Parts: sequence; structure tokens; C-alpha cells
Amino acid sequence: MVDAVIDKVRAGGRVNAAEALELYRHAPTPVLGQLADAIRERKHPERVATYIIDRNVNYTNVCVAKCNFCAFYREVGSPDGYVLGFDELFAKIDETIAVGGVQLLLQGGHNPDLPLSWYEDLFRAVKERYPDFKLHALSPPEVVHLSRLSQLPVTAIIERLVAAGMDSIPGGGAEILVDRVRKLLHCYGKATSDEWLDVMRHAHRAGLRTTATMMYGTVESDEERIEHMMRLRDLQDETGGFTAFITWSFQPDHTELGQQHRITEATGVEYLRTLALSRIVLDNFDNLQASWVTQGGKVGQLSLAYGANDMGSVMIEENVVRAAGASYCMDELEIVRNIEDAGFVAKRRNMHYEILGDPIYKALGVPRMLELATAREEGDTHVPSELVNYPARSRAGKQLRVVPRNPVN
Ligand code: SF4
Repeated sequence: MVDAVIDKVRAGGRVNAAEALELYRHAPTPVLGQLADAIRERKHPERVATYIIDRNVNYTNVCVAKCNFCAFYREVGSPDGYVLGFDELFAKIDETIAVGGVQLLLQGGHNPDLPLSWYEDLFRAVKERYPDFKLHALSPPEVVHLSRLSQLPVTAIIERLVAAGMDSIPGGGAEILVDRVRKLLHCYGKATSDEWLDVMRHAHRAGLRTTATMMYGTVESDEERIEHMMRLRDLQDETGGFTAFITWSFQPDHTELGQQHRITEATGVEYLRTLALSRIVLDNFDNLQASWVTQGGKVGQLSLAYGANDMGSVMIEENVVRAAGASYCMDELEIVRNIEDAGFVAKRRNMHYEILGDPIYKALGVPRMLELATAREEGDTHVPSELVNYPARSRAGKQLRVVPRNPVN
């Protein structure tokens, strides 16, 4: 049967879930790669591989969701918890612009002490200072969290965030869009599969473009990985609002799930097979990113032969997967070297996948950057002064925001 499915894909046919499973389980890896590469070639015949210069900033690590695969979050009141101040975020934007960056990928924990008005004020302040700089901000579970916290519908949250300056929504927090899996990962409480998809549906209807992701390699079955892809494909048929799909494997280090269930990380071949399958199944997605941050530069480069047409983001800062053990880092020069060595032409892009130009590092004289930055220096948990302007919900948050009435001179 697998040969019949291979022929169908070669002829440009759309696979159903059973056919996708047959391919995933039985097609030889080089054949899966050839099928995916042929689809990539049809969609992007110009042999350009793109990347974006942006900065992945995690504005807070305080989170009430407590997903068991996450090594990044801290509980409310934890001495290691932080919220970045507006000035710290402005400094990060300045550094990003200095190396040719065009946007912030802004995500964080579900912090009950940050009300909707904090996000609105932040976005407005960013847009006032940097009118052309883009905010790719708040994954669907964060939008659902804000909806619950403010007792407002998701549509109202999106409307208000867009009015404040949000440009697009990153596809994080999808993990596997099957509620059996989400319950086992403790992320059912942060957003169900339907809620995740609904945020994206509403965002697309509001005219925003978004990405979609999949984290595999925890407790899901092959069938559930494919169900995840099918649900994304259905929504893309309905709205056409996704610009790209990104998949990566679970990073088990320092996580509750990894320690309790002794889960080892998926191999490079499993990553390449999953990437290739997603190119075949997601026939209505134009762009697939290589996740070199989790897989390393070498597998990231190979991804360009397994369906990917984009190398994602030049890494200036990343804290979440690094907390779980992944520590790969490539600056623009290294990304361009990997793209060109794989036989592609490297181009910078924006979130909409519009080409912005050739590599910029030579013109700007950007120094080599081979270490990741951090959201905060270790041990620095100072509370930004503007936080006292927002009502805290948790006891710990209230204590942190006590302003001395009669400061001693
Ligand atoms: S993955 Fe996100 S939502 Fe889950 S615990 Fe970590 S920071 Fe919180």
C-alpha cells in the first residue's frame, strides 16, 4: 500500500490520515525526503531559503499553567520569578535593530499579576518608540489566559491587543492538538485543542497572520501527530491565515515529564521524517521552518532537503528550550553559511515571508555572536517600577508591589 500512497503524492494528490500514517511508518526515509523536497521545489522553485532577524523575548517566567514538559516556568512567588520592565524590553529592541532585526517574538508564562492593561501599555509604548518594528506576540494559550483573567471573550482580547500594536500571533503552545495528550502534559488547563484553534480562527478573521507549531516526542501516538496536522490543514483550508509551520521534538532535560517518565529525545531521523511528512500533509502551508535551535545546525541544514524552505530566526535570545537542555546558537553569518552550502540562496524576510533583502551582516559589520543572551542575568529578580501601576492578583504579587509610603531619605 505504501507504494500507492507514494505514487499519489508524486502525482500531487492530497493524503488522508490513513495514507499519512502509512507513509510515516513504512516509507523509506530518503523517499519521504524526496517527496517533501519535490513539494518544496514546486512551491519555491527559485531555490531561495529565507530567515528572519528577530528576537525571542520571554517577558515573564512566572506561570500558573505548570506544564510538565516545561523547564522554564517558575511558580507565582518564586524567588527566581521575573517580569521584564519596559526599559529592559526597549534595550533589547535597540540591540535587535542594531543587528538588522525587524521584530520581537514576545511570549511568556501565564502570569496572573499581569493584567490586559499591562500588555496594552507595553505594546503602545513599543509602537510609539519604534513605529515600524513588529510585534509577533502572545501565543494562543496566552490569549486564552488573558481572556479568562479579564473575563472577556477571545475576540475582544485580540481586538484590544491589535489596537495596542500586536501585529501577528506566534503558533506556540500547540504541542499536540489532541486533548488526550494535552491532559497528560498538564496543558489541557491552559488551552484545549479547540481553544487553541479558535484563537487562530478569530485572529485570521481579524486579518492577522499567524504561524503553527507542533512539539512531538512526549506521550502522543503517531496517529495523534497526524491528527494534529490534519486539524491545522482543515483550519488552513478554512482561513488561509497560517504563514508557516514549525515542528520540533520535546527537549526532556530538567523537565518533570522527562525525569518521571525517562523520556529520551527523538533522534535526528525521526525529526527529518516528521518534517517531511508535515510538508506532504500540510499541502496548503507555503512555508516550513527548520528547527535548528532544537536539532542543531547540521540537522537544521539537512532540513532544507526534507521540505523546509526557511531557517527560522537568527538567534539573539532564547530561554525556553534552552532551559530544557537545547543550547544551539547560530548568528546570521552561520545561518547564511549553512543555507549557501546546501545549495540555496539566502534571503532575509519578515513575518509575512516577504523578502527584505540579502544578508545584512556584512553591510552592518555585525560582530560574531556565538552565545545566547538571557532574559535577565541570573539571580536578578528586581521588580520593574511600572508594575506598581497595575493591580496584582496573587498574594506574592501584591507583596512585591508594596510601595513604601514614607521612603527614608
Ligand atoms: S510551556 Fe508555557 S504555559 Fe506551559 S508551563 Fe511553560 S511557560 Fe507556562
